[in-house]
Amino acid sequence: MVFDLNKCLGCHTCSIACKTQWTGEEGMENMWWTVVNTMPGEGTPKSWESMGGGFDGNHNANPGRIPLRDEYGEAWKFNHKEVFEGGKGKNAYLQPESKKGKPDWGANWDEDQGAGEYPNSYYFYLPRICNHCSHPACVEACPRGAITKREKDGIVLINEKRCKGYRFCMAACPYKRIYFNPLKDTSQKCIFCFPRIEKGVAPACARQCPGRMRFVGYLDDEDGPVHQLVHKYKVALPLHPEYGTDANVFYVPPLSPPKLDIDGKLLEDQPRIPIEYLRNLFGERVDGVLETLRQEMGKKQRGEKSGLMDSLIVYSWPRDIFPGFPEDPARLEQVLNKPMARNIGNGPGAAGVNTLPDDGVLYQEIKLQS
Ligand code: SF4
Ligand code: SF4
Repeated sequence: MVFDLNKCLGCHTCSIACKTQWTGEEGMENMWWTVVNTMPGEGTPKSWESMGGGFDGNHNANPGRIPLRDEYGEAWKFNHKEVFEGGKGKNAYLQPESKKGKPDWGANWDEDQGAGEYPNSYYFYLPRICNHCSHPACVEACPRGAITKREKDGIVLINEKRCKGYRFCMAACPYKRIYFNPLKDTSQKCIFCFPRIEKGVAPACARQCPGRMRFVGYLDDEDGPVHQLVHKYKVALPLHPEYGTDANVFYVPPLSPPKLDIDGKLLEDQPRIPIEYLRNLFGERVDGVLETLRQEMGKKQRGEKSGLMDSLIVYSWPRDIFPGFPEDPARLEQVLNKPMARNIGNGPGAAGVNTLPDDGVLYQEIKLQS
């Protein structure tokens, strides 16, 4: 996938699409396989960037630690009943209800806080999923051989029958994109919507994204948008490349307006988002990428042609954003409705669940209506 950070609205439609589809069961309450963090910020789980994992420059594993449940944050509810039906009038107001009292952390707890001083404060949104890495630290860390990277499409999957809940994978993943299910005693994470992918349907997060910022495709498909943005135009970069896992999610970094001085005058050569911060996230190549984006935007503004800008704009949806996965999820057919059902569809015709007994990955093989 490629995420164009200049188009992310921070609406969390992606997170909800994923939650509805895959993580609605008991034991998965605090799981957000796709999460949208405000940057700069502590993110999900809290301060994940300082928890270690991944590989050093010599491909040796870096020590890492397992995030604590409190660092992911609790899945709390709100007192809707009290406010709307409790008869307390103006004395009741909406507030979180949690088993442990008032929650003090959760996914996106620091949403929209950002950094900097007025009038030069700044933030941007950073959606994050499992990167389905080419050198996945989670796979190497698992003594049960329960995590595999599929040859046919590169998707990294946890075999929930083999997993015994040791959580070495959670310590090893430098992006901290694996969750623990205490009821099943297994690790769980983004499955790149493989039952949809196999039927030509784009992942739910990408299909539902109103910003149309998630490009889906194979890196070696030279005609596809992912290959073009990463290899042809070279404007999409992995997050924290120094983690050494060869991540397969790439980001078009955020442009920012110039700073203002005390009198409100534009300081044209000083971007609001400090370049050092972006280098820290995306590596040294980010300077060149931002320059390319500015030049290509300039072309478009002058009425000249820019293939790069045309790709990023996505004139035709879904053709220009996930050409290999154009099938409508409304065509996904209900197959079975088992108790561990995960909701496959996105509306009418939503499908139930089956298991794939051969590899123990407990998700459905789905069908398309003819
Ligand atoms: S992001 Fe983490 S969980 Fe996903 S493949 Fe890479 S190392 Fe494994
Ligand atoms: S749905 Fe799209 S625009 Fe909305 S938060 Fe997710 S990635 Fe950003």
